[in-house]
Amino acid sequence: MPVSDGACELHGCGTLRVRGVGASRERLPKGWLERSSAWGRERRVWSMKARAIVQTAPRQLELREFPLPDIDDDSALLRVEACGICGSDAEQYAGVLPVPMPVIPGHEPLGVIEKIGDRAAKRWGVDVGDRVAVEPLIPCGHCAACRSGNYQVCRGRGRMFGHGYIPISEPPALWGAYADFMYLDPFSIVHRVRKDLPASIAVMFNPLGAGFRWAVEIPHTGPGDTVLVLGPGQRGLASVIAARAAGAERIIVTGLARDEQKLALAREFGADYTINIEAEDVRRRVHELTEGRGADVVVEVSANSPEPVAEALYYVATGGRIVLAGVKGFKVVPNFVSDLAVVKEVTIRGAFGVTSRAYRSAIRLIESGRVPLEKMHTHDFPLEQAEYAIRLLAGEIPGESSIHSCLLPGS
Ligand SMILES: [Zn+2]
Ligand SMILES: [Zn+2]
Repeated sequence: MPVSDGACELHGCGTLRVRGVGASRERLPKGWLERSSAWGRERRVWSMKARAIVQTAPRQLELREFPLPDIDDDSALLRVEACGICGSDAEQYAGVLPVPMPVIPGHEPLGVIEKIGDRAAKRWGVDVGDRVAVEPLIPCGHCAACRSGNYQVCRGRGRMFGHGYIPISEPPALWGAYADFMYLDPFSIVHRVRKDLPASIAVMFNPLGAGFRWAVEIPHTGPGDTVLVLGPGQRGLASVIAARAAGAERIIVTGLARDEQKLALAREFGADYTINIEAEDVRRRVHELTEGRGADVVVEVSANSPEPVAEALYYVATGGRIVLAGVKGFKVVPNFVSDLAVVKEVTIRGAFGVTSRAYRSAIRLIESGRVPLEKMHTHDFPLEQAEYAIRLLAGEIPGESSIHSCLLPGS
């Protein structure tokens, strides 16, 4: 419910908008906030500071405190409930991604609007207390890419500009979601999400959104299509879920011997066949499973290894579509036989980021409760364990592995 009588901090009178408590706002001294919780109302001193993880150099993370930013008419403050962790977090941590530092990482935020300017509330259709999923990229709104609807490749602010990728030298520093609170820029994109779902499930809008864009939207997957997903990580599993939701006729997933648990999950989420690439001849198996035609759609979401990119040309059907979305640390692809793409008239498309439409499809699917997504969620971590969480996802922790994991800053 928008606060419109002007009696709030945004207008300098010292009253804070507060979330979820009866009349939705009360006059309190600055620096104090009345909050409600699942266990009832609780009143506590609010330090007006946010804890955040700062990456200062490759493989260097530290916990720091930041003052909460002022919010103007067009911006907002998010109380971060959860931040998903994905492969690009591991690359950012290792220093492979060209991200300016020091920076607060975290580009998959889910949270509750803590404060919001009146104009932002109107533009975004949300208010204090609403739970929102925040898209990683913050487009400029007027470059050629934005104007043509391809805002996920916007460079209008000079570089890739998004939550988790903007250095703390750029005010107000709290751009990433590895933090208690995150600043929402006037051009941040938010989607309202139902509040009765566990945060660690609701935050899956990000991998699932990628599944909808990479496995459905870009290759126009529909009924009758055979979809082959290379790699059973969280993006691969999300691709299976999305392709199934889009009515794909047959879904095949490849993985390594150590991926057996993920391949079993893939089958549970709708894959018809899974292939252990270490034990089976993948070309022959795909040939058999598709009556010699090959897959209409191949989604390449394996991490680091470039070989599957070259192999995809053998798996794809004539006239088929290959979507490349797994990043390989800028490695060269050996044995890439481009003639196969020529003679089969294959469409090869790179995919970077997700669209609002795909995020909405993901959020609707999460809210529907149709898919047992909790089976894919393996770990919750407090903010202090960010480094362990990233290293676990990167496979650096012997004897333990994760599929989908997230930070829960409030825990
Ligand atoms: Zn991510
Ligand atoms: Zn732009």
